[in-house]
Amino acid sequence: MELDGRVAVVTGGARGIGKAICARLAARGATLAVVDVLKDTAEATAAEFRAQGIAATAFAANVAVPAEVERMVEEVMTACGRLDILVNNAGITRDGLLIRMQEADWDAVIAVNLKGTFNGIKAVVRPMMKARYGRIVNIASVVGVMGNAGQANYSASKAGVIGLTKTAAKEFASRNITVNAVAPGYIQTEMTDRLSPEARQAFLSLIPLARAGTPEDVAGAVAFFVSPAADYITGQVLHIDGGMVM
Ligand code: NDP
Repeated sequence: MELDGRVAVVTGGARGIGKAICARLAARGATLAVVDVLKDTAEATAAEFRAQGIAATAFAANVAVPAEVERMVEEVMTACGRLDILVNNAGITRDGLLIRMQEADWDAVIAVNLKGTFNGIKAVVRPMMKARYGRIVNIASVVGVMGNAGQANYSASKAGVIGLTKTAAKEFASRNITVNAVAPGYIQTEMTDRLSPEARQAFLSLIPLARAGTPEDVAGAVAFFVSPAADYITGQVLHIDGGMVM
C-alpha cells in the first residue's frame, strides 16, 4: 500500500476528525502515533486500532507546550525509528463575542491551535530534513478564511495556520517536505455538538451540498496530501466544506 513503512503522527488523534484521519492513514498502510494531552485517552484509541490489527502507539503531549511536543517526537523516533507524516489536528474553541472575550480565552485558543501547529512543525522538521522526506498537513478552518461572529480567537488562530502553512512550505520545499492545509467547514464532531441549534442551522443554510461534513470527509483530503499523488503539491489550502467557501 502507498503508505507502507511510513510513520504518521496525528495530534488530537484520539477522537473526532483526528481519529478518522488515523483510521484512513492506517488503511493506506501507515503506522500510527496517536497523540493526545492525556496518555490514557490516546492509549484507549491506540488499543482500539491495535485490536483491528493496526500498528498504533499512544503518546502524550499538550501541543501548546514546546518541551512536551519535542519529547513526544523523540519518543516516536525511539519507538518507531522514523517519522514521515505529521498531522497538526489538535484544536479547541472558546467562543464568545469579541467585546466580551476574556484574554484567557484568546490566549488558550491561539496557544493550542496556532502555537501548537508551530510547535509540531518545529519538532519534526529536523528528522524530516535528515530523511529528505516529510509530509505535514495542518487542520485550518473555513472561518480562518471567512471569519465568524463569536470566534475572533478561533478564526484568527486558523488564519494564522494558513499563513504558517505557506511559509513553512516555502522554507522546507528544498528538502522534499511538503506542508499543506485543509480547511474543514461544518463537520459533525464533539466540537460542533456544542453549537446551539440556531448556530447549526445558520451553518447548514450556507452549505450548497446541504449537509454537515463527516470526519471521514476531512480524512480523505488529508490522505490525499500525504499520498504520492500529491508529491508535487505544497503550500495549498483545500476546503472541505460542501461548497461553503468558493
Ligand atoms: P474535537 O474537540 O472532537 O477533538 C479535538 C482533539 O484534540 C481531542 O482529541 C482533544 O483531546 C485534542 N486536543 C485538544 N487540545 C489539545 C492539546 N492542547 N494538545 C493535544 N491534543 C489536544 O475536535 P474536532 O475533531 O472537531 O477538530 C479537530 C480539528 O479540526 C481542530 O483543529 C478543529 O479546530 C478543526 N476543525 C473542526 C471543524 C468541525 O466542524 N468540527 C471545522 C473546522 C476545523 P481531549 O479529548 O483530551 O480534549
